[in-house]
Amino acid sequence: MKQTLNILQNTVIGDIERCKSLSDLSDIRVSVLGKNGQLTAILKNVGQLPPSERPIIGQLANSVKKSISEMLDKKIRLINIEEWNASLKEEVTDVTLPDKGFLMGHRHPISQTITRISESFRRLGFSVESGPEIETDYYNFEALNIPQDHPARDMHDTFYLKSGDLLRTHTSPVQIHVMKHQKPPLKIIVPGVVYRCDADVSHSPVFHQIEGLYVNDSVSMAELKGTLEFFLHDLFGDTLAVRLRPSYFPFTEPSVEVDLECPFCKSGCRVCKKTRWIEVMGAGMVHRNVFRSVGYDPDLVTGFAFGLGIDRIAMLLFNIPDIRLMYENDNRFLKQF
Ligand SMILES: [Zn+2]
Repeated sequence: MKQTLNILQNTVIGDIERCKSLSDLSDIRVSVLGKNGQLTAILKNVGQLPPSERPIIGQLANSVKKSISEMLDKKIRLINIEEWNASLKEEVTDVTLPDKGFLMGHRHPISQTITRISESFRRLGFSVESGPEIETDYYNFEALNIPQDHPARDMHDTFYLKSGDLLRTHTSPVQIHVMKHQKPPLKIIVPGVVYRCDADVSHSPVFHQIEGLYVNDSVSMAELKGTLEFFLHDLFGDTLAVRLRPSYFPFTEPSVEVDLECPFCKSGCRVCKKTRWIEVMGAGMVHRNVFRSVGYDPDLVTGFAFGLGIDRIAMLLFNIPDIRLMYENDNRFLKQF
């Protein structure tokens, strides 16, 4: 029995030394020390030996078990260290390599344009207001002096909702919301998204407008012209001429179209369609009916209002040929701003 134990010990220790992997070591542990292992079987049978041999063989078997266990643990630690070193060699990081560069995000050209326009009007004392994008017929049309059968409704290409409400076709309904809740004097601008059922190189079904409104006891057309001149010169340079042409809007009377001298040419180009003038906004003195609809007395207050397409201004500022480029989220386009 003594001999069997010695042979077992030598064989197993040899096997452990040749072992290359943790799973092979686990197999050895099971086959020797496991429930049905060789050494476990010997230990189980110690009781059947003659009484004089029992303590000697028992002691020897236990010491063989202990040395095999220790040998297994030692080898496991060794293999773990070898694997760790090998992975360190493979996954080496070269800290001297140059980095990939710091990628900076930036704001969309439309957001940049809204900020520039808002800053310009803030300097003249205008505050920024906002309102809902889903509107009732009353706020979008009726209160702005565009009754049910008014032909001006045809120009708006309105998106109607099943509820009977609509997606606002201009930012002007915010004028009504503000005037209904505040008393004059009022000096506000309203940048925002508007919707119309229309799409080509210069029209998108979703676009941006900025609305301006100034109401006080004696606001004049001259103040309107001065305000818009200041704004356009601030944005495009103060050498360009600004002109007002008579026009028609239901919510202003008198109404004007505002033209800016073409910033791109001296004798006519594609942007100004060879006319040397670019139409930039509509404006006018607030219609008496609009004041009536919000409870203001049109004999006591006057005011001017103006509205311009932010997308169109962005196209002029950044020389963008097609409005749709601004809504396609193409990184090649957006990276240029
Ligand atoms: Zn031009």
